[in-house]
Amino acid sequence: MSKTVFLDRDGTLNREIGFIGSPDRLELLPGVPGALRRLHDRGYRLVITTNQSGIARGLYTERDLARVHERLHGLVQGLPFAYLHCPHHPDAEGGDPAYRRDCTCRKPKSGLLHQACAMLKGFGVSLEGSVVIGDSARDLLMANGLPLTKVLVASGKPVEAERQKLRDAGCVPDHEAADLPAAVSWLLEQ
Ligand SMILES: [Mg+2]
Ligand SMILES: [Zn+2]
Repeated sequence: MSKTVFLDRDGTLNREIGFIGSPDRLELLPGVPGALRRLHDRGYRLVITTNQSGIARGLYTERDLARVHERLHGLVQGLPFAYLHCPHHPDAEGGDPAYRRDCTCRKPKSGLLHQACAMLKGFGVSLEGSVVIGDSARDLLMANGLPLTKVLVASGKPVEAERQKLRDAGCVPDHEAADLPAAVSWLLEQ
């Protein structure tokens, strides 16, 4: 069974600039395509898991997000296997009320991981031996108590605040790296 790396998007693959509702706002971080290529060549499946409450807030639509991901997919040479997002927010205003709810898929909840496994288990996607990489505490908390390796990257949100949130939650990262290329180098040495 192949292993999967569950990757956060904003601050991990592309620059963290707040809500991204159009493809031209997407700016890849340095070395990201090469880092994804190294993972892919070592047999890892790449699955993007991202909170997109901008949909619940009415800032952009599912179709806009699909356009952003189409551009991202091109920029990273078609390497990701799947993109999963949470469009919800419990108290968002301005968008479709159908998205305003306390869902189970908004990170730090683990719903996106379970969705990915349910949808993709026929392709060998499972939690056991897999990895999460993200710049936010909630990216790692999503995997807290689950059998995944957790890597925090310092390429997005101010990292000390994220470290503190992890400490407060009793969640210890397996590794912290400056950015995705460094995280991948560490992972492939394990
Ligand atoms: Mg992020
Ligand atoms: Zn959700």
